[in-house]
Amino acid sequence: MIQVYRKPPQALPSESAFFRLPGALLMVLDEDWIIQMMSESWREVLGTQADLRWRRFTELVHELDRADVEQRLGHIGEALSTVRFSCRCRKADGRYVGLTWNVSHDVDQHLFYASAHETAVNLSELEARLPEVYIDGLTGLPNRGLFLDRVCHTMLRAQRRKDLRFAVIHCGIDRFSVINHSLGNRVGDLLLIEVANLLRRSTRPTDMVARLGGDEFGILLEDIRDASSPVRVVKRIQENFVLPFQLHEHEVFASMSTGITLGGEQYEEADLMLRDADMAMASAKAHGGGGYVLFDRGMHEEALRRLDLELDLRRALEKHQFEAYYQPIVRLKDNRLMGFEALVRWNHPDRGLISPAEFIPLAEDNGLIVHIGRWMLQEACAQMRRWQLEYPRRPALTVSVNLSARQLLHPQLLPEIRRTLRDTGLSARHLKLEITESVMMEDAQRAIELLEALKRTRLSLMLDDFGTGYSSLSYLHRLPIDALKVDRSFVMHMHERADDRSFVETIVNLAHKLGRAVVCEGVELPEQEALLRELGVEYGQGYLYSRPVTASQAEMLIIDDQERATD
Ligand code: C2E
Ligand code: CA
Ligand code: CA
Repeated sequence: MIQVYRKPPQALPSESAFFRLPGALLMVLDEDWIIQMMSESWREVLGTQADLRWRRFTELVHELDRADVEQRLGHIGEALSTVRFSCRCRKADGRYVGLTWNVSHDVDQHLFYASAHETAVNLSELEARLPEVYIDGLTGLPNRGLFLDRVCHTMLRAQRRKDLRFAVIHCGIDRFSVINHSLGNRVGDLLLIEVANLLRRSTRPTDMVARLGGDEFGILLEDIRDASSPVRVVKRIQENFVLPFQLHEHEVFASMSTGITLGGEQYEEADLMLRDADMAMASAKAHGGGGYVLFDRGMHEEALRRLDLELDLRRALEKHQFEAYYQPIVRLKDNRLMGFEALVRWNHPDRGLISPAEFIPLAEDNGLIVHIGRWMLQEACAQMRRWQLEYPRRPALTVSVNLSARQLLHPQLLPEIRRTLRDTGLSARHLKLEITESVMMEDAQRAIELLEALKRTRLSLMLDDFGTGYSSLSYLHRLPIDALKVDRSFVMHMHERADDRSFVETIVNLAHKLGRAVVCEGVELPEQEALLRELGVEYGQGYLYSRPVTASQAEMLIIDDQERATD
């Protein structure tokens, strides 16, 4: 509801062109703080069509800031002719915008002239509710006190939840005092505001960005995966610093030095964590600015290794560093070779053979898995076709290729599979795709449709790592799969743990009721093999038969199997 307090006085300053200047946030108030005039730009900031004239100025101000604003305005005229303050003002949509005000008194006209500039955009209701003591007036960000409080809370949470990892980032604008001195405080302030907004944009809404004081900012990242997460955030921020900041008529190039520290048991106080991050930042500044330093050496190396690995991974395909290894899958009834699972290996020039357990998750994160997977499919199909032609006397072998969720969702998957089969001459009947249950997690219905489309090409589908994580038996009958691969963690202990044995038994019974075959992976011991045979499991795979081997070693296994069969 708009309350009308008073009719406008007749003698107002003319609606000068000044009032229509783009970006000028101006107001004229009478001596009772009733708004008499507003410039046009207010509409963009407050997003309102409604006229705020004749309303009391302080109605605009967040209730928690109101007392402070009234007090400051009260001083005007007594001792001062101008006052400056920051507060949060309510927008038409109920959110708040941080504004810094300059208000001066015109004694002759009995009016106040107020000008404002935006200090922080779009504070959420929650942030806007924070008492002023926790807010930095210029940027609208939480201040040091609130930041430390939140770090402290996170530490307490991490003590209870051992897997919770978090990081504190401390950053400072390089050579800020030079900018401030040469271009003036006003431009310096604008830069701080711009940087505050940039930091907010570069982080998730759940991360806390705070102004620690001066040109220094803090960021708290919660629930990170490892040391590479804060490094990624910092790199993203630094990328945003490449462009100059447009501050009034100045184009200002700036850079930021950053220190990172990771939460852990060595910290019992938020202060100390911040101090270490600060120390790391100082060391980044000492290296010329624009960079970052991780406080903990060990973590530093880990993060670097991951980032390095990611860089190397991008080049590995073109440098032909991947190799397909093959692990036999045998029919338990008579121990005959049925086919192979193709497993990727990375021949790193410096680090030797790198396990897929190390780089597949990375490749899934950055999307490279699609390229690696495409290569593996081509390689495995071509190899299997060569073996079939070379050993025509034996029943045709099959090859299983792993497919991660990201590949399954790729729109080109189906045409690519068809093309690969055509190009290599392998029949679809001899190709199996292994998918894990995790593909069902996002959108089970869609996953089922995709799997059905794959099935129409006549290849076989296997559900990999069955029993780990998401296992839900309820949808099993709906999945168009041919076989289940029981995860090796159950097979590993089944000869010594009754629980695992009965789990495998239940799965086998269920699978058979649904007309699906069972493959057990991780068979290492003859006792395990004997139990699986007793349960009626069709196929086995594991070190008992062979580790994954190169194509030429796999060929020896084919020859062996053929000789045994003809003996
Ligand atoms: P997976 O699909 O479960 O593959 C079986 C893993 O178990 C292989 O590890 C294999 O070496 C290992 N293994 C086989 N038999 C035994 C055994 O008797 N005992 C023990 N302890 N382990 C055994 P690998 O080759 O390191 O592969 C790890 C995972 O990486 C695979 O698990 C698969 O999820 C993924 N992966 C491998 N190659 C590819 C690929 O080409 N594409 C995709 N998307 N993922 C792949
Ligand atoms: Ca597999
Ligand atoms: Ca598996």
